[in-house]
Amino acid sequence: MTNTLFDGLFADVKPERAFAEIPGEGDVPSRWYTYAHIEQVTARFAATLAARGVKPGDRVAAQIPKSIEALMLYLATVRAGAIFLPLNTAYTAAEVDYFIGDAEPKLFLCDPKSLDGYIGIAEKYRVHLDSFGVWRSPEVSAGTFFDFAETQAGTFDTVPRDPEDLAAILYTSGTTGRSKGAMLSHKNLLSNAETLAREWRFTEDDVLLHALPIYHTHGLFVASNTLMKTGGQMIFMSKFDADAVVKNLPNATSMMGVPTFYTRLLAHYGFTKQVTEHMRLFTSGSAPLLAETHREFEARTGHRILERYGMTETNMNTSNPYDGERRAGTVGFPLPGVALRIVDENAQPVTQGEIGTIEVRGDNVCQGYWQMPEKTKEEMREDGFFITGDLGMEDEDGYVVIVGRGKDLIITGGFNVYPKEIEGVIDDLPGVTESAVIGAPHPDFGEGVVAVVVGEGDEDAILSALADKLAKFKQPKRVFFIDALPRNTMGKVQKNVLRDEHKDLFV
Ligand code: AMP
Repeated sequence: MTNTLFDGLFADVKPERAFAEIPGEGDVPSRWYTYAHIEQVTARFAATLAARGVKPGDRVAAQIPKSIEALMLYLATVRAGAIFLPLNTAYTAAEVDYFIGDAEPKLFLCDPKSLDGYIGIAEKYRVHLDSFGVWRSPEVSAGTFFDFAETQAGTFDTVPRDPEDLAAILYTSGTTGRSKGAMLSHKNLLSNAETLAREWRFTEDDVLLHALPIYHTHGLFVASNTLMKTGGQMIFMSKFDADAVVKNLPNATSMMGVPTFYTRLLAHYGFTKQVTEHMRLFTSGSAPLLAETHREFEARTGHRILERYGMTETNMNTSNPYDGERRAGTVGFPLPGVALRIVDENAQPVTQGEIGTIEVRGDNVCQGYWQMPEKTKEEMREDGFFITGDLGMEDEDGYVVIVGRGKDLIITGGFNVYPKEIEGVIDDLPGVTESAVIGAPHPDFGEGVVAVVVGEGDEDAILSALADKLAKFKQPKRVFFIDALPRNTMGKVQKNVLRDEHKDLFV
């Protein structure tokens, strides 16, 4: 009996090999992790989870800053047979309240700084609350999960888990404004890591520069699982910082990024061809990479960024080829094991070159939404295809092109923002009659959130009222007042008209 994901990820790796370098910051020196350290630290963490009463199938929620220990917590949770539930560090207490109430975790780990603010939530839902602690600060770590783990043995009997058992729940924003928890099984995650490792030619000689957040599928699964599956090494950075990335790239062979990483690197004076000479692969995803960025990057470095397409619910679906043409403005071909079709509003396949909704099926697709069987039914067809809600087409050579997003999803800095959620919060403010939230093209973030409000008040009042109600990335960058929202004859707000009016706002 094995633990499908944990044992599967590390089946072929060598314990003595380096796993991660955590570059020093300020007066803190660099640290190194080997694959043997993963084994020991996850054993200590898994034993601590068990001591906290976590049983197989329980959820473990964590809202903690990015650190190598946070990554170990994910692996330890899987190893203990439980289900990992990472939460965006930008979420406010009001947002966290919803996730804890919905997921009903056994244990909720937070940053020591946030502990006091979460005691009420923990009592309300009868969840065990612990601060996670920080490796390098004994005074902050005293009494924390991390501190307790230090006292545990470095061995743990890994809990067996079947391919269909859940390994993680990742919340996505819902079009109705309510977030939905995508239920990801051991098989979903392991199969995608194996596919990506093979397709993108990862080996144990790779050094991946890891600058993505790890509460999202891109940094947690696409980057970390793929690299660990091959026994390679990471340069593990706490966040994306262009100076630090430029400094560390000469020691790396590969980097996975969102489009914003690439526009920021191109704007950095130190980002030269020389800096990337040792690199073999740059990938991009989570939001559309402008063809212009693709071309500018190649002109500067000689590297063609490999763009891929996926989502929280499906892991990765398509990828440009490693060998062969990486076509700018496209997301390539369906990955091996992924069936992809593009259909019209009657669920009939469209012809090549025609735009339709993208649907996918394969081991990569999640089991549905946590405690939302109705939503699962709405988005999962009877033949197993998942309706992504993305609009796309296949070009003359079969490359998939994403032409837009169904509905009015805004992607800012790689994060999804659903207008309806923001509108609901604004509409509840005193003096506001109604509002419409749209995305306006933004040179740095891809899109910037803009609110158009009917009612009394001013921009500053709205912005300050939203400051503690919404995560920073969801807050509007600008607020405009208007007498009435434009509507069509059916009474629907014409967001395209608003988008048109504000298309030059940030550019
Ligand atoms: P998330 O669940 O946060 O990963 O967001 C998934 C959504 O991001 C997809 O449904 C797409 O709308 C969008 N997305 C991901 N990758 C790409 C890409 N390469 N090009 C365009 N949109 C993308």
